[in-house]
Amino acid sequence: MYMMDENRIFYQNNEIPFDQLQYDRKLSEGGYGIVYRGRWKYTTVAIKEIKKEIIEQDKLEEFKNECAVMEVIRHPNIVLFLGACTKAPNLCIVLEYCSGGELFFHLSRFRKFPEHVARFYAAELALAIEFLHGQGVIYRDMKPENVLLDSEGHVKLGDFGLAKDNIWDPCQGAKSICGTPEYMAPEVLNKVGHGHSVDWWGLGMILYEMLT
Ligand code: ADP
Ligand code: MG
Repeated sequence: MYMMDENRIFYQNNEIPFDQLQYDRKLSEGGYGIVYRGRWKYTTVAIKEIKKEIIEQDKLEEFKNECAVMEVIRHPNIVLFLGACTKAPNLCIVLEYCSGGELFFHLSRFRKFPEHVARFYAAELALAIEFLHGQGVIYRDMKPENVLLDSEGHVKLGDFGLAKDNIWDPCQGAKSICGTPEYMAPEVLNKVGHGHSVDWWGLGMILYEMLT
């Protein structure tokens, strides 16, 4: 049922044996799976695991997609992909750990940010988006929960579950509806096809949220 042989060819460079991972504590639990803080080779890492009970085909597709996109992306403002354990049922993605937590958390404590703080986060996010688009990747899930901060307070964009590669046009290339309704660009809601521009819309939404 898992069809993991197909997947393993894909990740053979970054395969991490499950027994090398040490789990520490749970950071978050979502629809897709559970994120833990853990250790791998003397480094603190985040382990994003698919819940065993929801290993279904579409979750597998999402998992495969997330790995495929992340493993080729390297940028200071994007969470670093370290590898994946693709041996069912322990399907997990191992990521650089961002100890600063979610931007969402900080925003909810401050209620709104002063302009210079919002400008700083927006600028670092813009760098990440610009880089992704240059690689032909659209992110499609821009929201404060997916923007993480590292130990120095720099932005690290995470959660590539909805990202799509091989998109080179601002307005077309992708069709399927996805994203969080509150942050969706009009062309996504209208299902007329979308491209890079949806991420700039998402950044605008975050900027608005940071300032108001
Ligand atoms: P989901 O698909 O469930 O939204 P995410 O990748 O957004 O998965 O992870 C869910 C949450 O787990 C994030 O909002 C964040 O709080 C935490 N998290 C994810 N990755 C990391 C990481 N690399 N470092 C620290 N916390 C993380
Ligand atoms: Mg998320």
